[in-house]
Amino acid sequence: MSDLTKTVSIVAPFFNEGENVDHFQRGLAPLLDRLPGIAFEIICVDDGSSDDTLARLIALARSDHRFKVIELSRNFGKEAALTAGIDHATGDAVIPIDADLQDPPEMIPHMIEAWRNGAEVVLARRSDRSVDPVLKQQTAAWFYRIHNRLSNLKLPENVGDFRLMDRIVVDALKSLTEQQRFMKGLFAWVGFKTVTLDYQRRARASGTSKFSGWKLWNFALEGLTSFTTLPLKVWTYIGVIGALTTGFYAIFIILRTLIVGVDVPGYASLLVAVLFIGSLQLVSIGVLGEYIGRIYMESKRRPTYIVRRRYGGSYAG
Ligand code: UDP
Ligand code: MG
Repeated sequence: MSDLTKTVSIVAPFFNEGENVDHFQRGLAPLLDRLPGIAFEIICVDDGSSDDTLARLIALARSDHRFKVIELSRNFGKEAALTAGIDHATGDAVIPIDADLQDPPEMIPHMIEAWRNGAEVVLARRSDRSVDPVLKQQTAAWFYRIHNRLSNLKLPENVGDFRLMDRIVVDALKSLTEQQRFMKGLFAWVGFKTVTLDYQRRARASGTSKFSGWKLWNFALEGLTSFTTLPLKVWTYIGVIGALTTGFYAIFIILRTLIVGVDVPGYASLLVAVLFIGSLQLVSIGVLGEYIGRIYMESKRRPTYIVRRRYGGSYAG
């Protein structure tokens, strides 16, 4: 390896993607062969798959030494798997990519070129996500809008985890110690000189999405609570407005009682007010719970993932 040779690490999380392993290799390896002057390592993280993903990945690592496998001890989720891969990457740049190749590997040469021209982060933006279900596109758009309104951290819209990061960015990312990792947010939080390229999001090679509506909802909550405390603070203002309104209303009722006398009917308005304030309090307690739950989990300082074994490259096994 000459001094000029740069290493690029490609990191892919695999969860029950057995059918996609060959396709992944076929889509990636020939492309990388055609890129001179760059040495590649491809870190495949098996995120506790229950199908033959691991066996296939190990076979792949045996036949092509650029492929390395990190086996996690169970399913830790995509964010943790990605973190594991990035932690093990040794390249001068790191590119996370989905194992289902929804992120086209053909973008990699363009990303590398932008990196060589001085970019520290090269974002790949999905200019077209028409392959995603309409509901997913719509809810994603809402998420970005709400997140970017509430948080000081602006997440670039339609940008996933597929991007190139220079080593300095990766090291900055590794210095963030939180255990619950909303990677998209962390990537954006570290900053650095960024260039954006557009691409068309493809359909999944095979299999189905691992993210159900419920999982995505929790993912969105994780994203929001990780980067803004506005949902916590807003209750102060809602409370103040409620108290002021109630104060004016109280003065009005007292005056009316003094002037016109006692007014017994009022059951409906009473009930509505009690129920409304009660629900409002429950919502605010729920928001508190979201944050406290996260503080509780974070305070345990558990590792984000646990590696069972590593295969390929210079790893034992
Ligand atoms: N993934 C993972 N762990 C999980 C869920 C997903 O490592 O618990 C991986 C999955 O194998 C894929 C990537 O994360 O490589 C993206 O998942 P998917 O394609 O299901 O998400 P979508 O593209 O539908 O958002
Ligand atoms: Mg996918």
